[in-house]
Amino acid sequence: MNNEGKLLAKTSPVSQMVKCDVCGGHYNQRYVTSHKRLSHRDKSESISVDETRTLDTILALYKQISAKARRELLRRLDPASDQA
Ligand SMILES: [Zn+2]
Repeated sequence: MNNEGKLLAKTSPVSQMVKCDVCGGHYNQRYVTSHKRLSHRDKSESISVDETRTLDTILALYKQISAKARRELLRRLDPASDQA
């Protein structure tokens, strides 16, 4: 077997990139499992890509509203502050 053949055999599986369903990043198929274990250890704490997008949208909208509207929004989000 010549060197070229060895190189091809070694490098061919590298193209197997898969998307991490937690953070949306692309990782080697063999590495994505350990990536998830290392980067997203606590599954209850992580949110989906869809939720991340929704959060970004909410934050973008939040930046557009006035300080008055922000106070009103926070008041509605936190019923406990109704007492204040
Ligand atoms: Zn990830």
